[in-house]
Amino acid sequence: MNHLILLGAPGAGKGTQARKLQDERGIVQLSTGDMLRAAVKSGSEIGKKAKAIMDAGKLVSDDIMIAMIEERVQQPDCKKGFILDGFPRTAAQAEALDAMLAKLGLALDHVIEMTVDEKILTERIVGRYTCAKCGAGYHDAFQKPKVAGVCDVCGSREFTRRADDNAETVRTRLDAYRKQTQPILPYYRTKGILKSVDGMAEIDDVARQISAILD
Ligand code: ADP
Ligand code: ADP
Ligand code: ZN
Repeated sequence: MNHLILLGAPGAGKGTQARKLQDERGIVQLSTGDMLRAAVKSGSEIGKKAKAIMDAGKLVSDDIMIAMIEERVQQPDCKKGFILDGFPRTAAQAEALDAMLAKLGLALDHVIEMTVDEKILTERIVGRYTCAKCGAGYHDAFQKPKVAGVCDVCGSREFTRRADDNAETVRTRLDAYRKQTQPILPYYRTKGILKSVDGMAEIDDVARQISAILD
């Protein structure tokens, strides 16, 4: 019951919900976006290749992404299960994922699609920021810290915004979602494991919809 994919456009709320599931259920969040940002920060070969692509809002090559996830799902912390957040994003990634899971004797339990109108996605992305210390996610209008300027989780006063969370890049990213990622939904629908939740509901309500699918 613990191998999930959260699928949705940039800003749909995948990271927000994956973090909640990780905290509540002890299954680890595997965010390929976070992994890539860590690679860029560390200056690794992959990071050097990925940076310009990410800044432009395009997709990093399937080869890199598949190798990254293949290595990650074999780490000990994935034994209890994992939530894929941001992977797969192309048909080739979806097929490679199936092959690697089969090799490990695992199968996907649910693919949860989070639907949100495009107009709202842009607002969400442009207003998004995170705690620089613990990574907790916030939004200028939709998810403010309880005390202004102080992280609810760790008390830090430092926050960061992603370089690619700007109105121009968002257009390219939404386009990539429409052209390259949406076409994989029928693949999972045919397998009978695709469920949809209303990603426009309040954060806690979306979490309840997801819990209802898992329990
Ligand atoms: P994704 O990982 O799918 O790109 P995030 O989880 O980072 O999306 O959410 C994008 C932004 O929208 C964040 O600033 C987050 O605080 C906010 N957000 C997430 N879910 C909701 C929701 N259900 N309603 C309003 N804002 C939300
Ligand atoms: P969001 O959920 O807001 O789209 P992510 O943090 O998931 O953002 O991804 C940020 C960027 O990292 C993407 O725009 C893309 O360049 C790259 N990326 C992340 N995951 C993948 C993937 N599975 N395949 C290709 N590129 C990816
Ligand atoms: Zn924090």
